[in-house]
Amino acid sequence: MKPSSRKYERVRKLIREERRKQPPMPIMFLSRLNGRWADKRSANKFLLGCILDYQMRVGLIWENARRFAEDDLGDPRDLWDDIIRIPKWNTKTVRRRYNLHRLTAAHDRVQRIGKEIVEQYGGDARNIWKNQSPCVTQNRLEGMGVGPQISRMTAGMLYDTKQIKGAGELKADIHVRRVLGRVFTGDMVSADAALDIAKEMMPRGSWKLDAQLFRLGKSTCKKTNPDCGGCFLRAECKSRKGSRRRNAVR
Ligand code: SF4
Repeated sequence: MKPSSRKYERVRKLIREERRKQPPMPIMFLSRLNGRWADKRSANKFLLGCILDYQMRVGLIWENARRFAEDDLGDPRDLWDDIIRIPKWNTKTVRRRYNLHRLTAAHDRVQRIGKEIVEQYGGDARNIWKNQSPCVTQNRLEGMGVGPQISRMTAGMLYDTKQIKGAGELKADIHVRRVLGRVFTGDMVSADAALDIAKEMMPRGSWKLDAQLFRLGKSTCKKTNPDCGGCFLRAECKSRKGSRRRNAVR
């Protein structure tokens, strides 16, 4: 049965309250600009971090992006031009030398996407999102092979750091899918279903729900033994209500 519109509203309210208490985490290369338009160097490094940001610990990924761009390549303005000039990029030697990501595919795609950035946007990542909506930004990133989830996350981070106007859709990663699924259906849901739920709650700009859901899924609503007592969504959670009912019957 589809949850009621009042339930969507109550959950949205709880997440908003949480967002006021705990704003989104600082974003490397952009947060330090305090909302000013990014310079080319920072924007290019930011996009590199985004492209690498999957299937690895977040802090390590962004540090890898910084180390590679600043220490290995000397922090160039034309980062993407420099990357596409690196010979034999898709080889073990180059992968080992730069140690960007544990996945071969994640390393390999950096140069492939870099070529698109140079050819289509003059090697300046800002041209992807300058004066564009989150939707266009997401589509452009996806068109270069960035992937839908990372594209949404990138547009969301650009919104959080005031580089674009208007929030896009949230990134329905495993943590967000688990929380939304447990709250609304009692169990984990697919990425598409999580997006549908998020859109019901916030038709324009579900990204604004992302940070709180992600944090909750990572720290409290874990795969096993979720800490429901410490969860700000406990009053609305279908999974918790179900398990309490089951315990009462035993
Ligand atoms: S109440 Fe428990 S199961 Fe429900 S969202 Fe919170 S931590 Fe997860």
